[in-house]
Amino acid sequence: MALYYEQPLEITHGEGRHVWDAEGRRYLDFFGGILTTMTAHALPEVTKAVSEQAARIVHSSTLYLNRPMVELAERIAALSGIPDARVFFTASGTEANDAALLLATACRGSNQILAMRNSYHGRSFTTVGITGNRSWSPTSLSPLQTLYVHGGVRTRGPYAHLDDAAFTEGCVADLRDMLGQAGSGVAALIAEPVQGVGGFTSPPDGLYAAFREELKRHGILWISDEVQTGWGRTGDHFWGWQAHDAAGPPDMLTFAKGIGNGMSIGGVVARAEIMNCLDANSISTFGGSPITMAAARANLAHLLEHDLQGNARRVGGLLLERLRSAASRLGVVREVRGRGLMVGVELVDPRTGEPSPRAASLVLEAAREGGVLIGKGGGHSTPSVLRIAPPLSLTVSEAEAGAAVLETALRTAEAELA
Ligand code: PLP
Repeated sequence: MALYYEQPLEITHGEGRHVWDAEGRRYLDFFGGILTTMTAHALPEVTKAVSEQAARIVHSSTLYLNRPMVELAERIAALSGIPDARVFFTASGTEANDAALLLATACRGSNQILAMRNSYHGRSFTTVGITGNRSWSPTSLSPLQTLYVHGGVRTRGPYAHLDDAAFTEGCVADLRDMLGQAGSGVAALIAEPVQGVGGFTSPPDGLYAAFREELKRHGILWISDEVQTGWGRTGDHFWGWQAHDAAGPPDMLTFAKGIGNGMSIGGVVARAEIMNCLDANSISTFGGSPITMAAARANLAHLLEHDLQGNARRVGGLLLERLRSAASRLGVVREVRGRGLMVGVELVDPRTGEPSPRAASLVLEAAREGGVLIGKGGGHSTPSVLRIAPPLSLTVSEAEAGAAVLETALRTAEAELA
């Protein structure tokens, strides 16, 4: 079992942006349960919605309708930007991507998929099979035939030294070559607008729009994996795809994590003509469960009413600025990057300049000691990027307190490595 810390951490409860461990210590939660606690821990509206729904009926199956599901689907369809949108609920992000891949292959009659290098889309046989990082993929026996596209990672690989325009040009030329070799059989391209597990790295704005033009010419569907980037997390946009919106909304988007504020949820939004390709496979036992739907409906209403996207933009901007200023005095940090409340700190060994998983572990331990929980990513066997993604209701004073603890933790790691 992969636990983050040398000494396991048992969490007993949470409130707002804080959680408590079994010894009664309080932590500022800068990872939001891997981006699932989107609004706040123990948000009263969600607690009330769950307990009221539990008292009425916990589960009825998607063979029947339930009011929270219908209302949530209507709201998500309207927010998605996808015309004539339909929503299919699942119980996780993995299943949401599985469903999207199934729809794409069924609609297009092909099992060829384009995926980004360094991507992560889930842990099922199908989604592991398309992941763009071999170390996260224990098998090469994928049911899909996957072609990997450049464009996700800017800090490594052949394009590391290029500016945005030249990088975009190089990646589009690669894609063109690939499509030339693949012929007309590719069903879809799936991409995260900001790569999450891959280390909070994003392509330059406009790269995906340039890809879209190429894909449209070949009738290839675009799936935007919004499992980490949806619901305003990136601050400037409600969906990650909107940073690349020159070519319009994707054909499908997938979501999960934060919308349930911790309840198991996922889903696909697609145009009706695509969703209808799979009428016979439209039943999920737990997708659309009344209790999950009630939680998500209350959570989404809170998020919109309190403009938490705006808060993510403002407080995320401040956090980024504080961390950049701290990093400018530290050799252990290669880059601080981010959008909204999705901030990545890429670490290197100050002696060699190479990515340093050890530095990441040292910072995680020191931050825990200082009362702040963060995540790491950027490669399964080389996780050298700190991932910071607090609930979107983070306050300015919490951001400042957390940044101060992280600065101290970075200094501790730097001294240890020297
Ligand atoms: N897609 C992305 C971008 C993710 O980050 C994840 C999980 O981290 C998934 C899909 C899989 O979601 P889940 O863990 O809910 O199955």
